[in-house]
Amino acid sequence: MIIKQVYLSGIPLERASSTAGLSGATVMPVPGVSQSKQYKGTVGKIMREIVKVPAPILHTISQPIKDIDELVREVAEEMLLLLGGVSRIPCLGLAAVQLGEPIRLIAVMWNMYSRDYRTPVIIVNPEIIKCSEKMVESREGCLSIGKGDSIYTVKRYKQVKVKGLDISGKTVVYKERGLPGYAFQHEIDHLDGKLICD
Ligand SMILES: [Zn+2]
Repeated sequence: MIIKQVYLSGIPLERASSTAGLSGATVMPVPGVSQSKQYKGTVGKIMREIVKVPAPILHTISQPIKDIDELVREVAEEMLLLLGGVSRIPCLGLAAVQLGEPIRLIAVMWNMYSRDYRTPVIIVNPEIIKCSEKMVESREGCLSIGKGDSIYTVKRYKQVKVKGLDISGKTVVYKERGLPGYAFQHEIDHLDGKLICD
């Protein structure tokens, strides 16, 4: 297990009900993110590594989350740090199982209010409740496959409506098309043990 210290910044932690697990220290501003969106908080830690194929856990079905407890908040925080922190890995989303935790938790780089791809959102127990009939081809990579730069063509619904809970347990609904819509489908597939290379 690698413990890597990163600077937490530009992350909408107002969605989190707790900042437990964060240890106070300097925060670096993220370039290109407006002052009002910079996270004015503390430094967090990323303790988990991205799980890669052929790890069998990537083909397991992730379990529904009954309580948004300390573990869920900790994994959510790490996902936000990976996506939105200074490390800012080049991907649009992550599923908890990719950090070795087979629970139904995803993060997607999308904020329906700000229309800012740099703002990741967390969804607990996400479900597709409605989808377009039309399917389109999407070219996608995955951090769990090699370095994430192998591109696969997959069929996706053009538009999806996804329902779940935010980290405070409040119901959230996202209706998205195009890239964020594909990202939701990609991450929910991870929760069902499906990979783009299958
Ligand atoms: Zn993936």
